[in-house]
Amino acid sequence: MDFKGKVYLVGAGPGDPELITVKGLEILKKADVVLYDRLVNDSFLKFCPNTAELIFVGKEPTRHQIPQEEIINLLIQKAKDFKTIVRLKGGDPYIFGRGSEEALALFESGIDFEIVPGITAGIGASAYSGAPLTHRNMVTQCLFLTAHESPEKNESQIQWELLARLKNTTLVIYMGASTLKWSVEKLIKFGMDPNSPAMIVQNATLPSQKQFKSVLVKLPDLVQTENIKPPIITIIGETAVLSDKLNWLSKKPLFGKRIVCTRAEDQSLSITSLLEQNGAQVINFSVIKTFHTSTAIKLRDLLSNNYDWIIFSSENGVRYFFQLLFNENLDSRALMKSKIACIGKETATKLKDYGLIADFIPSSFTSSVFVEEFLESVNLKDKKILRVKGNFHKDFIFESISEKGIEIFPFEVYAIERTEPDEKLIENLIHQGADAYLFTSSSTVKNFFDILGETIAQKLLSESSVFAIGPVTRATLNDNKVENIIMSDNFSIEGLVNTLLNHFNNS
Ligand code: SAH
Repeated sequence: MDFKGKVYLVGAGPGDPELITVKGLEILKKADVVLYDRLVNDSFLKFCPNTAELIFVGKEPTRHQIPQEEIINLLIQKAKDFKTIVRLKGGDPYIFGRGSEEALALFESGIDFEIVPGITAGIGASAYSGAPLTHRNMVTQCLFLTAHESPEKNESQIQWELLARLKNTTLVIYMGASTLKWSVEKLIKFGMDPNSPAMIVQNATLPSQKQFKSVLVKLPDLVQTENIKPPIITIIGETAVLSDKLNWLSKKPLFGKRIVCTRAEDQSLSITSLLEQNGAQVINFSVIKTFHTSTAIKLRDLLSNNYDWIIFSSENGVRYFFQLLFNENLDSRALMKSKIACIGKETATKLKDYGLIADFIPSSFTSSVFVEEFLESVNLKDKKILRVKGNFHKDFIFESISEKGIEIFPFEVYAIERTEPDEKLIENLIHQGADAYLFTSSSTVKNFFDILGETIAQKLLSESSVFAIGPVTRATLNDNKVENIIMSDNFSIEGLVNTLLNHFNNS
C-alpha cells in the first residue's frame, strides 16, 4: 500500500504545556492531523495550524475510550492521505502509554514513523514536588512501574516480593488512586518498611497540582480522607522527605489560587502567562470576543487628511487598525505625518510591535486623566485628530475632545461581541467557585452577568475577590450591586497582576 505520510509519536509531557520538547512543538506546528489523548493539555492545540484536523481519541468519564485498534486504524488511514500525522501522547510515548504498540503497528503496516520522547509524569512529579528520583546519599536507583489492576490479577507481572526488598530505591508508581491500596498492602506484606517516606502527586506539573507527603502505610487512608482523584503518581523512597525544602512550586505566590479571567481569548494570553508564572490556576472564562468592523472608508483616503494626532486606547484598536493598513498594502510609514497618543502601557507596547513609539502617554491610564493631561500638555489649536476606537456606546475621549471644538474624527475599527463560554466551564465554575475574578472592561462585566444571570453572578462574586482594571469597570460592577472591588494599581494588566499578588500575599 502507498503511504503519503509519516506518523510522529510525540510525547507532550506530563501537563505543563511548556514541558513539550522543541522538536515535538515544531512537528505539531506543521501537523495535518493530530490525534490526542485526554491527559494532553488542550493548550497545545492552539499551536497546530488552523487547517489541521484535530481528533480526540482519549477516554472521557462518560464515554468509553476509542479502542486501541481503532486508533491504529485511524493512524493508518490518515497516513494514506496526509503528510504529517501527529499522535500526541501524554508524558513519554514509550512509558505505559501503549506507544510501543502503536509504533509496532505502524512498522507492520509499512508506515514511516518517528518517536519524539517526552517528559514522563514520574519525572515531572518528582521535579515539581521536590522529591528527587536519585540522591547520592539516599537512593541510587529508581524504578517506574504501573499497577492498574489489583495485584491478585496481575501477580505474574509485578514482582512485589522483589520490589519490597529493594534498598536505596525510589519506586515511582503510575496508576489510579483506587488501586493504590493493593500495591501498598503487597509491599508491606513482603517486608517493606511501613514508615518508608512516600508522596502522592496529583495533576503533576499543572497549576492544579497537589502533593501529599506521608509514609507508605498511610497512603490508602490519605487517598480517602483527602479525596484524591487521578491522575496521580506515587513516589516511594527516602527523597520524599526533601520535598519540604525542594517544593518550589507550592511556594509561588499564587499557587493553589483559581483565578477567573473574563477577557477575550486572544487577549488573555499575556495575563494568563503572568498569572501562571506566579503559580495560579487560570480559568479562561472569556465572555467577549472582538472582530473587525467593515468600513467603507479607505485608510489611504482617511490618512490623506494628514491628522496631527492619532489616539489609540487599546491593544485591539492598534491591532485592527494595522490589519486595515496592511490590507491596503500600507505600513507604519503611512502614519509618518502624525503624532501618536495612547492611553496606557499595553497599548504603547502593542504599537512598538509595529515599530512605533507613542508620543504621549498620560501619567495614569484612565480616559479622564488622558483627556485632562492631553488637553493640558498638547497645543491642539487648528489641529486634526483621528480617534481609533471600537464600537463603544459612548466614547468619553471623543466626546470630551470634540466638546472643546477640536476637530476629531471617530474611526471605528473593531466591535465587541458576547461569547458563550462552554457549558462545562460554566458548571465547573458554579460548583467549584474561584478565588478571584478579573474584569478588564465594562463589557466583560455586562456579559458575565448576562451569561450567568444576576443571582448566580452575584453569588459567585460575593464569595470571592473581585478585581477591576479601572474606575469605569468598577462602576459597572457597582451598577450590578457588586461591592468590595479591588482596583488595579495603575489601570494596566501588569498593575492588575501586581495588585492581585499584593492582595494574596497579605491575605
Ligand atoms: N505515557 C505517560 C503515562 C501514561 S499512563 C507518561 O509518560 O507520563 C497514565 C498514568 O500516568 C496515569 O494513570 C497517572 O498515573 C500518570 N500521569 C499522567 N499524567 C499525570 C499527571 N499530570 N499527574 C500525575 N500522574 C499523571
